[in-house]
Amino acid sequence: MQDLSKTYNPKEVEEKWLKIWLSQKLFKSEINSDKESFSIAIPPPNVTGNLHMGHAFGNTIQDVLIRYHKMNGKNVLWQGGTDHAGIATQVLVERDISKNEKKRKEDLGREEFLKRVWAWKEKHGNEIINQMKKLGCAMDYDRLVFTMDENYTKAIRKVFVELYKKGLIYRGKRIVNWCPKCLTSLSDLEVESESVKGKLYHILYPFDIKDISKGGITVATTRPETMFGDVAVAVNPDDVRYKKIVGGKVTLPLLNKSIPVISDEIIKMDFGTGAVKTTPAHDANDNEIFERHTELKECPVIMDLKAKVQDNDNLGIPKEIVGLDRFKARELTLQKLEEGGFLKKIEEYDQAQEKHDRCGTVIEPYLSDQWYVKMEPLAKPAISVAEGRDPQLRFVPDRYQDHYLNWLRNIKDWCISRQLWWGHQIPVWYCKEQNHPTASEQTPTECSVCKSKSLIQDPDVLDTWFSSALWPFVTLGWPDASYFNTFYPTSVLATAREIINLWVSRMVFMGLEFTGDVPFKEVLIHPVIQTPDGKRMSKSKGNAIDPLEMIDKYGADANRFWYFSLGVTGNQDVRFPGRKDKDGKWESDVLEQNRRFANKLWNAVRFVLQNLDEEKKYEADLKKINSDKLTIADRWILHKYTQLLINIEKYFKQYDFSELARDVYHFIWDDFCDWYIEISKQQLINPELKEQTQKILFNIVYGITKTLHPIMPFITEEIWNSLLERRDFPWKALLDNPYPKPESSFINEEINQTFSYIIDVTRSIRNLRQTAGIPWSNEIKVKLFTKNVKAKKILDELISYVEYLTKSKVSVHGDFEPIKPSTGTLVNDTRILIPISGLVDIDNMLSSLNKRRSQFEKEIESQKLKLNNPNFINNAAQDKINEVKSRVGELENQIKVIDEQIGLLR
Ligand SMILES: [Zn+2]
Ligand SMILES: [Zn+2]
Repeated sequence: MQDLSKTYNPKEVEEKWLKIWLSQKLFKSEINSDKESFSIAIPPPNVTGNLHMGHAFGNTIQDVLIRYHKMNGKNVLWQGGTDHAGIATQVLVERDISKNEKKRKEDLGREEFLKRVWAWKEKHGNEIINQMKKLGCAMDYDRLVFTMDENYTKAIRKVFVELYKKGLIYRGKRIVNWCPKCLTSLSDLEVESESVKGKLYHILYPFDIKDISKGGITVATTRPETMFGDVAVAVNPDDVRYKKIVGGKVTLPLLNKSIPVISDEIIKMDFGTGAVKTTPAHDANDNEIFERHTELKECPVIMDLKAKVQDNDNLGIPKEIVGLDRFKARELTLQKLEEGGFLKKIEEYDQAQEKHDRCGTVIEPYLSDQWYVKMEPLAKPAISVAEGRDPQLRFVPDRYQDHYLNWLRNIKDWCISRQLWWGHQIPVWYCKEQNHPTASEQTPTECSVCKSKSLIQDPDVLDTWFSSALWPFVTLGWPDASYFNTFYPTSVLATAREIINLWVSRMVFMGLEFTGDVPFKEVLIHPVIQTPDGKRMSKSKGNAIDPLEMIDKYGADANRFWYFSLGVTGNQDVRFPGRKDKDGKWESDVLEQNRRFANKLWNAVRFVLQNLDEEKKYEADLKKINSDKLTIADRWILHKYTQLLINIEKYFKQYDFSELARDVYHFIWDDFCDWYIEISKQQLINPELKEQTQKILFNIVYGITKTLHPIMPFITEEIWNSLLERRDFPWKALLDNPYPKPESSFINEEINQTFSYIIDVTRSIRNLRQTAGIPWSNEIKVKLFTKNVKAKKILDELISYVEYLTKSKVSVHGDFEPIKPSTGTLVNDTRILIPISGLVDIDNMLSSLNKRRSQFEKEIESQKLKLNNPNFINNAAQDKINEVKSRVGELENQIKVIDEQIGLLR
């Protein structure tokens, strides 16, 4: 017989089973199955990444679902993989090369640089996958996908070309968010807006530059250095101040150039002076004005990609300013305006400054050729599948439905080109002669328009989110049918709220466009885990808690149990329940408690194994237990176990993981370990009950091991292995066994109530013993008084449980007769008295009761002072007031109890 070791050693057990699971390819999916499919595509972590708490949380939830559904007979696939993470990876490798070789990527050239990135990926790209294994993730490791795999690239080209041919991808000159540091355009979602104290400059654009006393228009701007690119001054058509001037001309100071005054509805009359300069190449709104006003012809670009002023169009920009960085140029421009008398006023101004979320550089709007996805036609179906009360695509919690819909309803076209090297290069080629674009899945040999043979591929790459948007179907081999037909649409997506717009919505419209179906039916949005003081965890700030460190300390299962219990239906954010110890390492009471929970289960199983007959094989089938012989305790635990299974089924359907975790925990710790196992000790020494009790113990342990497996896979597999020794059955991983089904004939509400009453009485006697300080070595006498016929009957029948569990002799009576000195309490309508003469020091007990009484009285007094204080009553929230009132009531009750106690003592 193989016994379990004395204490549970997570590290040893986890390593052992992980190895076995992986070598047996336990998580491998199959396509030739007549079972119903259940699949999840993992939110692919960045290939540069390390497992953080967000990943560990999301992956635990996905893993529990995969394991649960597999045990419930589904054909499952957990599709894993990594994202090439364009800018993040490129920056990382660039930094490496700069540090080690003192070179820039331009020194190496595109081809060589990309070789280096691939080499980096080969070396480090699997780290995060290995970290997921430590968590126990039941992913199909033979099917991992990288978003730059050959098949992925093929699919991307197919999607791009098809959208292009439908007119849903177009090239446009647009103002983009440009990062002058990273030298790339950014989507709106990569831009962070921050409120800063800035300045608003009032600049006079005179009618006549030679005589500015004749007046002009004063414009207000926060970026005076862009004035060299101005093509007009714009006012609102309803603005009476400027009505007469619209259509006229003013002079652009410093350049001495004449520009028109135009009117446009977009101009806000209450901003600055109501007149603004129009700089179409350097401002998104101005560019829209430019598009509307066909009378405006030129659109000068006066700043280069690094946000330095350049005079490519020979506008006559003062040469001291040319070549300066934008902020330096601003200073000098202002100085020159001031000298010329054009700077009329400088105002303090609260402005929203936009920065690149990754590097913190202030965004410079930049006019450039970019590729766009036309969003309106794609957004429409993605909206309709998620609308209404019973949508095809459901969010859990459902508050995220609006979040998703609002974004899609107000969506702008999506700029998908990025000026990076690492990524999917845009599959468009231009002929050298006339720049005709040719979009093609294969590298074309000639221009589609002029047949020229000299072609150059567009140097830009696609936004990383463009490839992630195709993740749920491309990972399944699309357009190839086998896996796709079996597992698409996937069943559930579990992710964090911050990428609902960036990722979830894009997967939906791409999925609908290319497969005609939603990519997943349900979206679980799990909370974000914050630091204990409610801050965002960030590696760079040094306040991130490493999930692997916690796994190392408390075991993977204890961590998984915590993540799972956080669930998806509660708060938006969860604080890590821990602190730093004196060595600066993280520790957590909650994880410690979960570690103890694992141990508790471990010890319970050890107890059961030790109390089974050595040579006997036990059958795992509750139905075969002769129900005539069952004791009340047997019936009660079978009821509780069945109820647990029913609840679990319900909670999985509702994704109510925190309730589920609570129920499992309570059943194992309280019902089974603390009550049934204790009672079984008495049943096991009774020859008539022994065999029956052994069978029940074995079956419950067998059942909860399976029940708990999806949440705590390692410890349960180890226990399972030991249980199989006692069963006539060959080894098969727990995951390949069916999940327990509730046997509804065991539901017995009456037994449950009866036994709950016995538990309450027992618990009360134990508490009385403890507060009175009666040592467990003393057997005590207990008197119970009740006039309730039903209660009396239960007590008469079951008194032996109470006696055994409280080490006492109990007598049951009808009419109450006080006994002095004694200690007592009330359970429902049953009075409990323990005569204590000779057992405890009465004076001591009296004085401690009196002490507590006066403490309570003092507190009542101070709480009542609050209630009599008009300030408090008028200003405090009603909740707070009610809280104080109920505290007073509670204390008054406690005093009543103490008075009764005192009455019983003398
Ligand atoms: Zn940047
Ligand atoms: Zn051509």
